[in-house]
Formats: sequence, C-alpha cells, structure tokens
Amino acid sequence: MRCPACAHEESKVVDSRTARDGAAIRRRRECLQCGRRFTTYERAEDELPLVVKKDGRREPFDRHKVVSGMRRACEKRPVPLAVLERTADQLERTLVESGDREIESRKVGEWVMERLREIDGVAYVRFASVYREFKDVGEFFEALRSMLERRGIALPADLPGRPDGGRFEPRGGGTR
Ligand SMILES: [Zn+2]
Repeated sequence: MRCPACAHEESKVVDSRTARDGAAIRRRRECLQCGRRFTTYERAEDELPLVVKKDGRREPFDRHKVVSGMRRACEKRPVPLAVLERTADQLERTLVESGDREIESRKVGEWVMERLREIDGVAYVRFASVYREFKDVGEFFEALRSMLERRGIALPADLPGRPDGGRFEPRGGGTR
C-alpha cells in the first residue's frame, strides 16, 4: 500500500475492521517512512487467511465447506439455514479482523464447534464427533458430558467415559 504523502511502499497496520457488512476490510495504516496515517479498503475475501491442514498443506479458506459441515451436523434439527449463514459470516469477520495470514484448520473447527454449542446441542455433539475424530466412545462421552453440564444436566456416572475406554455394556443385567 503506497503512502499517499511520500509514495513509500511499506506501512504498518494500526487498526483493522470490517466494513460494508463484512465485504470489505477497512485498515488504518501508518507509513513507515513519513509516519502519515491513511485508510485503505480491501476486499475481505482477499484477506482471509490460508487454512493450514493437519498434514501441513495450505488451502484457501472455503466458506462453502464450513457451511456444509454445519448443515450436515444440523440435519433434521430445527436450525434455520440463515443461522448457519450468519455464523459463517461471523467466522469470516473474525478471521479477517484477526489479520492472521494463516490459521490451523483445527482452530476453525473449534470455533465452529463453540458456536454450534450455543445453537443446538445435538448438532454440536455430531459436529464434535466428526471434527475431533474421537478416538473412542469414552472421549465422545466426555465431550457430551461437558456440554450437558454447562446446561446443568448431569449424565449418570456409570456411563462410558471412564479411563478404561468405556464400552456400551448394560450393567446389572438391565434391571433397575
Ligand atoms: Zn509516507
């Protein structure tokens, strides 16, 4: 970004925020040569960070992928598509405003997971079970347990989720 006063090419960003409903990003910059401050508008979609996959590959942020992942988790749940679109908007804004050039895919997944937790508990558990690739059913129940606890619901203590790895085995011959 060329300084309007001295045409120097290098500047530092002093503030970043989204504008025009998230379609643009407004930046305050300061020229590294003369110190003049100026404002630029950049297209938000060019400003999204690259997503770093588990194997180290980088790929462009894919909003469609995020929305379809959420849709799968929300299948047959009373969650309007508009809510998911709005969530994706928020995610894009958060990413753009972070100013980061790269983000780990794990972090994107966790961000989405946190939002789904507020939107729909079932969708959250579904998404988490795919996203976290739970190693065993115990890990899955731990996630479920912590979600329910936040809502003040306790799972019975004898459900899986114990250090032995937990298996779905009826206890006490099925009589209560
Ligand atoms: Zn300058």
